Amino acid sequence: MDEKERRSRALQQIVQHVGKVKILFKWSSAFENLIGTILSQNTNDHNSRRAFQTLKKNIRVDPSSLAEASVKSIKDSIRSAGLYNIKAPRIKTIAEHVRNTYPDGLETLLIQSDDEVRDNLKRFQGIGDKTIDVFLAFAGGRDILPVDTHVRRIATRLGFAPRNAEYREIRKSLEEATPTSMRRDAHLALLRFGRTICTAKSPKCHQCPVKELCPSRRDL
Ligand code: SF4
Repeated sequence: MDEKERRSRALQQIVQHVGKVKILFKWSSAFENLIGTILSQNTNDHNSRRAFQTLKKNIRVDPSSLAEASVKSIKDSIRSAGLYNIKAPRIKTIAEHVRNTYPDGLETLLIQSDDEVRDNLKRFQGIGDKTIDVFLAFAGGRDILPVDTHVRRIATRLGFAPRNAEYREIRKSLEEATPTSMRRDAHLALLRFGRTICTAKSPKCHQCPVKELCPSRRDL
């Protein structure tokens, strides 16, 4: 078996092992998805969801409401997500832009190609490759495999890319090993796998379904 085949097999086996991951939290608009993804940066799901719900209750999560809200009131609502001093002004700036540029909703941005969406969103501070890919995959239904911290760790351990690889290199390598239309599912499976088995500290290599295919496995 060559390297490419080994990696591809490992990825397929992880997806099979984890099974279909149900998305429990549904955003009601593309804008909510974007704000929720920004809130999730550098924190866990529990804290970001709590911040999102508080923001929704206190201000509402739509472009006009957030554009008109004070930065302080946004900050106060999103404290549980951490980095609120940075995230609050960014959220307000993005809300102002979306209100002025996409009066019919951020869904209209999703009519554009992946690259055009990327170019449009990348101009904002705090919106990087991962946030855009999550937006494209889960608000736009695009066949994309976003690379978050868990996905990056697993990819480097399995040899998809070197440790210092650029975001796009990792995504490309993973996407090439994933059957078409399965990339979002693969992303969700890798997230769960990274939280439960291939954890950052002390990965559970002894119970890993791909230990025979992994060059980074620890002593079993
Ligand atoms: S063998 Fe260990 S390091 Fe390799 S993928 Fe499995 S849990 Fe991660």
